[in-house]
Amino acid sequence: MELKFWGVRGSIPTPAPENLGYGGNTTCLEIRLKSGAVVVIDGGTGARGLGLDLLRRAAGQSVELEVLMTHFHWDHIQGIPFFAPLYSPANRVRFHTTRAAEEVRNILEGQMTHPYFPVSFQLLGAKREFHTLASQQSEKVGELQVTPFPLNHPQGASGYRLEADGKVIVHACDHEHGDPELDRTIREFAAGADILVYDAQFTPEEYEAKRGWGHSTWAEGVAVAREAGVKQLVLSHHDPSHTDAFLRDVLRAAQAEFAGARMATEGETLEP
Ligand SMILES: [Zn+2]
Ligand SMILES: [Zn+2]
Repeated sequence: MELKFWGVRGSIPTPAPENLGYGGNTTCLEIRLKSGAVVVIDGGTGARGLGLDLLRRAAGQSVELEVLMTHFHWDHIQGIPFFAPLYSPANRVRFHTTRAAEEVRNILEGQMTHPYFPVSFQLLGAKREFHTLASQQSEKVGELQVTPFPLNHPQGASGYRLEADGKVIVHACDHEHGDPELDRTIREFAAGADILVYDAQFTPEEYEAKRGWGHSTWAEGVAVAREAGVKQLVLSHHDPSHTDAFLRDVLRAAQAEFAGARMATEGETLEP
């Protein structure tokens, strides 16, 4: 399988020249399996580019997608109204979360109601389905084996352990370290991962003033990666105030501690 980053920024898009090396769009990842099947993580503003690319690659054929949602803060849903595959009746998009289906439908409809958006969610042409995953239980989503697990984040968020083609990718954003039980859980589900995408919004120095905001640091990411035997640690959910130059320094510090550390970069594809 392949993992492509369409959005790596946390909180709000940052389309400023000094940020575009690592990228300005908010969270959206694409997992492409050997068969060509696609599973998406989150619908931040990066979803717009992904949607256009999916239609281009489909070349007129219908598109079937599985979308795993971590939670519903703006930086994870604002690309959904601009996700082109949703506008064609030939397509089918299935949203997976650990929340009740009806609640998720209401949340996604809610951001497109009057006066926030001109087209209502109900008028989108694609078949939309909502499926509830049981937390900490493994289930097949399309061809991908998916296990959601709880993260420490205001109003809750889900991490995902994803397995296919003999490889493991773990996504753990948005998450704040410090809750002993959830710190144990994240290590358990990240165990032996080929790739761990981790919430490194703050530096350890910045974190002291940001306790309770629901985000972690590169140093915690390194600790999790070491203790869980992770091969590649991908630092993501970049803070809006962190420029490319700043993130390059963060990466150098992280790589000095953990050689397999890298920065999530918009447009980049990784193979586990
Ligand atoms: Zn976020
Ligand atoms: Zn969040």
